[in-house]
Amino acid sequence: MIGRSHIVLGVACAITASSMGYVPLTFASLGAAALGSLAPDLDTERSLLGCRMVWLSRPISRLFGHRTVTHSLFVPLLTGGVLAHYSGIGGLRSAWGAFLIGYISHILADLMTGGCWALYPLSRNRVSLWPYAKTGSMREYLLLISSLGLLSCVTYHYLSRQLPQSGQKLHHSAFIALTRPGDYEQL
Ligand SMILES: [Zn+2]
Repeated sequence: MIGRSHIVLGVACAITASSMGYVPLTFASLGAAALGSLAPDLDTERSLLGCRMVWLSRPISRLFGHRTVTHSLFVPLLTGGVLAHYSGIGGLRSAWGAFLIGYISHILADLMTGGCWALYPLSRNRVSLWPYAKTGSMREYLLLISSLGLLSCVTYHYLSRQLPQSGQKLHHSAFIALTRPGDYEQL
């Protein structure tokens, strides 16, 4: 998946997570999610972040290669574990948590577009869940749009659960206005 698609997906995942109450909906969180969604591709100089940080991406690329160690699910899980250990669960309910959500979204997206070493160090095999979408292809965009649609549904579901009373009042008012226009004035 190309860098811009990763950013869109990472930020969308952070918004969905904030609707569930896991991370705050702030500019810091959204920025962190965008950064996290690009971070795994620091293993190549050709990526959006890697070409701006060649001093880091070049040695990582030479040492490990692309879509290998930095694309392991253990990286965000271990980082999250260390964060929770030192700063409590509150540490995860912050921009740091959003960064990790962005990071995980990148790995999941790459699993659907060619695969990566998601299970390293348990396995050095490139795991691929759906080998039909190549990076930058039309299928990648279809995958992105489908993912955004799914995330929007989940976000709407959680937001509507958070505002049940105001939502009911709104529907009730609209219903009365439709059926008994005269009564609507008295509300
Ligand atoms: Zn990647």
